[in-house]
Amino acid sequence: MLTTSTVRGIAASGAAHQVRIGRDYHYYGEARYLACDTCGDQRTVTEDGARAAAESHLVGDHGVCTACRTEFSSLPWLLGLLSLAAVLVAMIVAS
Ligand SMILES: [Zn+2]
Repeated sequence: MLTTSTVRGIAASGAAHQVRIGRDYHYYGEARYLACDTCGDQRTVTEDGARAAAESHLVGDHGVCTACRTEFSSLPWLLGLLSLAAVLVAMIVAS
């Protein structure tokens, strides 16, 4: 299986969970897979439903809360914006 993307989530208990979305090529065409690193669950999914199925597995089977996840993933963006602002200020001061 070739992993094409991963969906991560944090449960209310603080535990991190990860589902990998992968693809495989067969004589009858392309197949999409989900593989959960926490419980080892593997299943085939449709092309369109892969990400939604991964998210529903995290929420339904492992108690991942979507609010925790967005809060968690916005931090790198904030840090990136802050460093960008710092570079801009440094350029203005230097000119
Ligand atoms: Zn799982």
